[in-house]
Amino acid sequence: MKSLGYYNGKTGPINEMCIPMTDRAFYFGDGVYDAVMCRNNIPYLLWEHIDRLYSNCRLLGIIPPMCKNELSLTIKELVEQVEGEEKFVYFHVSRGSGIRNHSFTKGEGNLCIMIKPQALDNVYEKMDTVLKDDIRYELCNIKTLNLLPSVLTAQAATEKGCEEAILHRNGIVTECSHSNVSILKNGSLITAPCDRFILPGVTRAHLISVARENGIDVCERKYTVEELMSADEIIVTSSSKMARGVKSVDGRAVGGRDENTLSVLRDTLYINYLNATNI
Ligand code: PLP
Repeated sequence: MKSLGYYNGKTGPINEMCIPMTDRAFYFGDGVYDAVMCRNNIPYLLWEHIDRLYSNCRLLGIIPPMCKNELSLTIKELVEQVEGEEKFVYFHVSRGSGIRNHSFTKGEGNLCIMIKPQALDNVYEKMDTVLKDDIRYELCNIKTLNLLPSVLTAQAATEKGCEEAILHRNGIVTECSHSNVSILKNGSLITAPCDRFILPGVTRAHLISVARENGIDVCERKYTVEELMSADEIIVTSSSKMARGVKSVDGRAVGGRDENTLSVLRDTLYINYLNATNI
């Protein structure tokens, strides 16, 4: 099969799957999601993404319809049914179903999984970006289905021929529309702290570990747009990008002053992905 959809136990090609109108994901975006890259039928770092999904469910009072182990096994069974060496696996749990009413529905959530062929980004290609106001609300640490501000800023980037929108709140850099962003300055890795303004990215956490393992100083602190623009390198991280350098922000050339440290971080993350043998 070229793509696969799953909804509460039913499977089929993604564009033939149907979801009931009563699903609260449809009215309210009332649910949480996660996503992983999958290579040679190994969903990369699946357990860390499942952990985040379940802790997000806990934070919002959503009851997943199965345990973590069962979800892991279900995803692994489904990826076998889709063709291709590299795939993208998306999974979400909505709060459940009911006639439209803002107050919570009781009972278990609905599980939706989508798998499609998708290659990892070319990690060696630096990207063009735009800078945008972070117009999201204050639960950015939870990976909810409410993504309208991210959709709008991502579209603004696309319309400028760029791959990402770097977001800031009153001059303080938070993250990107669908990635985290960090900078290198004088040999240190500087990255926004995990608070309610950024998603604690799995790739960001690995970037930090790899930096520490390689003796690179790591500073989790707020940094400004000014620091971003004068950084030695800007690094964008996510599961489908791993770690990629940035070559421009709003058409202005940036980075390019610490290719060595960038390559240590980028190449180690990439090699770990290529060598993954299990979750
Ligand atoms: N920040 C946002 C807003 C995201 O949507 C994503 C990924 O979807 C990330 C960061 C990166 O997270 P991860 O590295 O876990 O894929």
